[in-house]
Amino acid sequence: MGIEISPTLAVMNRAQDLMAQGVDVVDFGPGEPDFPTPPSVAEAGKRAIDRGFTKYTNASGMKPLRDAIAERYNHRYGTKLTTDHVIAGTGGKQELFNIILALVDQGDEVIIPSPYWVSFPDQVQFAGGTPVFAPSDPSRQFRPRLAEIEAVATERTRGVILNSPCNPTGAVIAESELAAIVEWCSARDLFLIFDETYEFFVYDGARHVSAIKWFEGHPETIIVVNSMSKTFAMTGWRLGFAVAHPELIGAAGKIQSHSTSNPSSISQAAALEALRGDESEVRRMFEAYRERRAWLVPALNRIKGFCCLDPDGAFYLFPEVKAFFGKAGIVDSQSFADFLLDRARVAVVPGIAFGSDDHVRISYATSLERIKEGVKRIDAALRKL
Ligand code: PLP
Repeated sequence: MGIEISPTLAVMNRAQDLMAQGVDVVDFGPGEPDFPTPPSVAEAGKRAIDRGFTKYTNASGMKPLRDAIAERYNHRYGTKLTTDHVIAGTGGKQELFNIILALVDQGDEVIIPSPYWVSFPDQVQFAGGTPVFAPSDPSRQFRPRLAEIEAVATERTRGVILNSPCNPTGAVIAESELAAIVEWCSARDLFLIFDETYEFFVYDGARHVSAIKWFEGHPETIIVVNSMSKTFAMTGWRLGFAVAHPELIGAAGKIQSHSTSNPSSISQAAALEALRGDESEVRRMFEAYRERRAWLVPALNRIKGFCCLDPDGAFYLFPEVKAFFGKAGIVDSQSFADFLLDRARVAVVPGIAFGSDDHVRISYATSLERIKEGVKRIDAALRKL
């Protein structure tokens, strides 16, 4: 079938095995918040069980939840979205998959700025399409630009997938660039999938703007995918959503109705509470990420050979480590990650998993205490090279 289970994630599996054996590994791998789901949200899930809200719902998600999602966007961006513009599913990943299956045919090319989140290329390939990468410039903080997308477009291009803030680089696309990409896609009848899973986590004056801002002018072009997973620390509840033209949402709904049907009713009840509730818990988590990031970026840059940008958002750093290549058997991002696991008992994700072999991904979704311990270990191991 040609779909890959990334061999580069082998180092993460090895880290898990070591931890299961009781070895003290500082884990910079996690792609999920280290915080619990906010209590009021968890309580709403429990109440759903107690009142018997445990049956099938509408296969595309219950109306009150889809309406709450639409209202949230309408309130923030002045759109006029209704229930039919929204589908809720088992994670943002499922909605991306549904949308890509609905839009991409055999031979279609889909442009993805690189570095990219691991599942985008494989989902495109699953649908019979070809991912085409548009390398982002590290000297511009990896923020995607229209010129880079334009440079790889062909007559087979069917659409573009943007992810802002980006996993793994943290890059937040500039509003003016996003506006230009929307216009460019619209003029060519291309789709623009905009994944804003990390929308809440932006730092130091960076500003997140959703592509939904241009939806009313370009309803056939723009698809926004979002998730409860990261913002509300709800990864295990599996609840994400997509917002787009009702015709496309209908097509995604048909696919969903024949695969998983509705996302868990209990998770939908919890998500509704999260969307309606106040954001104090989310802000608390944000402040913790901000504090960790502020400590970690300069600390990594003090290690000779590490080159770490100040990312705009998400909870990842994507430092360049190629200064270490050629030493102690380190030749690429995977052997660098192996080295850190073996010699420092620190787990990082090789950058090649995201399309760059000169980098590794470091997640700071772990306590400041563990972050400090991890940096101490990395520094000690690399000094011996
Ligand atoms: N998009 C991006 C960029 C992600 O990093 C993730 C998860 O890691 C997802 C989408 C999917 O999240 P979920 O399926 O948990 O909603």
